Amino acid sequence: MFSDSLRIVWVYPDLLSTYGDRGNAHILATRAQRRGYPVEVLEIRSDQPLPATADIYLVGGGEDGPQALGAQRLIADGGLHRAVAQGSVVFGVCAGYQLLGSSFFAKGTKCAGLDLLDLSSDRGPARAIGELAGNIDQRLGLPPLSGFENHGGRTHLGPEVSPLAQVTAGIGNDTKTEGAWRGKLLGTYSHGPALARNPALADLLLRWAVGVNQLPPLDDTWSERLRAERHAAVVATARP
Ligand code: GLN
Repeated sequence: MFSDSLRIVWVYPDLLSTYGDRGNAHILATRAQRRGYPVEVLEIRSDQPLPATADIYLVGGGEDGPQALGAQRLIADGGLHRAVAQGSVVFGVCAGYQLLGSSFFAKGTKCAGLDLLDLSSDRGPARAIGELAGNIDQRLGLPPLSGFENHGGRTHLGPEVSPLAQVTAGIGNDTKTEGAWRGKLLGTYSHGPALARNPALADLLLRWAVGVNQLPPLDDTWSERLRAERHAAVVATARP
């Protein structure tokens, strides 16, 4: 996998890019470059074969139709399965998170997912829209998650995955847990450019990709201040 240059694949920007998902590729690339790693970002449309030899794959959010089509094409392509078998990092956001599981619902129809994570999604009583916050699994050693969510699905985790976070505001998977991770695969309902607001999460993905326990620190004063402010504000209003 990682040799001397970091390869990031933005998966299907023509289908899975509802809320500025390009931002996650940008954040990862700039944070890696500032540590001296050469970076290549590949944008692979859904009519192109997915290279199986990249270090990080970003699977973004999408409306039901593009989500179902994206899952079909990813299953038929097989590149993401090959990449995971070789140890690549995968970051899934919302629709991109749901389609990593065994199944999800789109426009009332049950659709097959990629079955890379032990989870499945159905529909909730109402759309979950708003701020999302949670305390991240202690084993990952990250500050609380702060984000925005917009999804109709609810996600149920099986025993092979761990929740990414315990919800302190918003809905996430099911009002209790948010997101999931196993190995170097991680999914979240924190929408769009989630890594801009959660730089420590971006660095976790980079550390997994390059195989180091630590990266040189960057000055994250402003993003940390925004993340902490939003987190404190939404938790205060969500749980009086
Ligand atoms: N279509 C999915 C849902 O509504 C995912 C939406 C999204 O990516 N924002 O649950």
